[in-house]
Amino acid sequence: MISQKMEGFLQNNSAIRAMFEEGKKMAALYGAENVYDFSLGNPNVPAPEAVNQAIKDILDTEDSLLVHGYMSNTGYEDVRQMIAESLNKRFQTNFQAQNLIMTVGAAGGLNVVFKTLLNPGDEVIAFSPYFLEYNAYVTNYDGILVEVPCDTPEFLPSAEKLSKAITKKTKAVIINNPNNPTGVVYPVEVIKKIAEVLESKEKEFGTDIYLVSDEPYRELVYDNAEVPYLTNYYKNTIVGYSFSKSLSLPGERIGYLVIPSEISDFERVYGAAAIATRILGYVNAPSLMQRAVAKAIDEQTDIFYYDRNRKTLYHMLTGLGFECVKPEGAFYLWMKTPTKQENEFCEMAKKLHLILVPGSSFQCPGYVRIAYCVSYETILRSQKAWETLAENCQKIR
Ligand code: PLP
Repeated sequence: MISQKMEGFLQNNSAIRAMFEEGKKMAALYGAENVYDFSLGNPNVPAPEAVNQAIKDILDTEDSLLVHGYMSNTGYEDVRQMIAESLNKRFQTNFQAQNLIMTVGAAGGLNVVFKTLLNPGDEVIAFSPYFLEYNAYVTNYDGILVEVPCDTPEFLPSAEKLSKAITKKTKAVIINNPNNPTGVVYPVEVIKKIAEVLESKEKEFGTDIYLVSDEPYRELVYDNAEVPYLTNYYKNTIVGYSFSKSLSLPGERIGYLVIPSEISDFERVYGAAAIATRILGYVNAPSLMQRAVAKAIDEQTDIFYYDRNRKTLYHMLTGLGFECVKPEGAFYLWMKTPTKQENEFCEMAKKLHLILVPGSSFQCPGYVRIAYCVSYETILRSQKAWETLAENCQKIR
């Protein structure tokens, strides 16, 4: 018999993954070029050549026992120091190696954070729509995820609603900027308001409330949108970063946490996070990848391709009368469903070989997420299907 917790997960297995599997089946049936799979946030721009070269150089020149060996649970010290210095240059921060922990992607980092912070019944606030895995990451440690809906139509977090949702039990608030699934970038004014609320609630309740910044899409921004570095705005911030999207390395499982010295109970939080990394079974982040990302620290994916997809798709869909949030970051387009039932809309789309993810997968029905990290040709080829979908929606309205 499996555990009750897993029973729940078995029944509600990720709709995103389900759509992805469906897309693969359809591609086998109709030919990949005739299926427009916008389901998964899997980068389609290859990793920069410098990353591949770094891996080859490491294997050719570095000590094999060092490259493949165990290390401190927090990761190689020289790697952490290089990343800290790069962050300091970019965001005027003051981190050292001992503020960083290398992680198994953002997912691994968030699990380490919640394992470190949560007692059973502690609350973690997330702004909906949000990446649904947060639910699992919080309940893994018997925490409770509390949803606070974003203000529409901009899909920005509301400081007022946040203020009302915070209780004595609130241990953390998670922010994902740039946002999956909306593609919205939260500007500095919004961050400042959130910081004010958190500071005043910490005083009111005499508690520590940690702001967890989940930022796998930090570098994926368009039109010069600025993504504030949250440690500069709120003392009790922990940053979870990932190279999955910025360097197109999602399968390599590499990222890091930044735990600033200024946060409450820093030494014990950092020490506990290092132990959490070990006892969750990660032991340490993948060693070769740690060394590779440090060598390629100044590299970034070429966002030209995502930007071209973004502009083309946004123009195409709004031109057909669909209501979309203009994405400023990540590689997702968030669209209102013209029919009342989003599942009905997704089914209509699927019949035209358009694979979309329903908004309920992000706790926000009435919308769909379109992941445009696909080839430009896929976007162009999908036009006819979108046109037919728009016509079909007109007919049933
Ligand atoms: N957080 C958000 C908002 C994501 O979209 C994802 C992946 O899509 C993750 C975390 C997990 O990222 P990683 O592959 O680095 O674990």
